[in-house]
Amino acid sequence: MMFRSTVVVLLFVSAACRSAAPLPAPTAAPAAPTAAVAIPDAIRWVRDAAEYRAATLQAYRLATSSVEAAAAGRAPGSWAVVLDADETVINNVTYQLERAQQGLPYSSESWAAWVRRREATPIPGAAAFLARVRALGGRIAIVTNRLQSECADTAAVFERHQLAHDALLCRPDGGPSDKNPRFEAVAAGKTPASATPVEILVFVGDNILDFPRLSQPSALAAEAALAPFGTRYVVLPNPMYGSWQPR
Ligand SMILES: [Mg+2]
Repeated sequence: MMFRSTVVVLLFVSAACRSAAPLPAPTAAPAAPTAAVAIPDAIRWVRDAAEYRAATLQAYRLATSSVEAAAAGRAPGSWAVVLDADETVINNVTYQLERAQQGLPYSSESWAAWVRRREATPIPGAAAFLARVRALGGRIAIVTNRLQSECADTAAVFERHQLAHDALLCRPDGGPSDKNPRFEAVAAGKTPASATPVEILVFVGDNILDFPRLSQPSALAAEAALAPFGTRYVVLPNPMYGSWQPR
């Protein structure tokens, strides 16, 4: 008797619970959580930091002072400056950011696609420096390891942002990345920068390989190798990539 009534009560309670707590209506499946991609600090610094902007302006003011001092008394057209392009005159942080957000490294294919977009922007201070060199009578050679096949799109970026230059010397497709032969060609008057020999007064770059006869080992081996920095050589910060990275 007791057993039977317990079963009845339990059945009643069970039915009550079901009616009081109906199954939730089906809903759309929740969106898959997007993995939070951490943007590397090096990219954030270049994109966001006041210190980065201050550093590039500082570098270009130093380059301007160096040129003004070295060019004094020189005939217009008898001297030149040489600059790298990427992360020196134009900024590609958007490319770096997009690759990081995709969790992908640099690739020559994605880089070529970025170059075709022509979306690089001027580095703070660069345009004013180039204009000042022009006003002082200097020639301007941009020596870049962007490929020759990427040169027209690169020239378009320089044109769009009025980044003055006389020669844009890209790397021949399949050719060497060593910039020294192109530096020598500029000095010898064998480029569109000048038809006659010129003295190169200042080099500007973000990579040790943007400076004559320097490399990571040679620049680190003896402090004397770094002596021209601050006068004839001016370096801009680039914590995102460079020849300092292990290969
Ligand atoms: Mg560079």
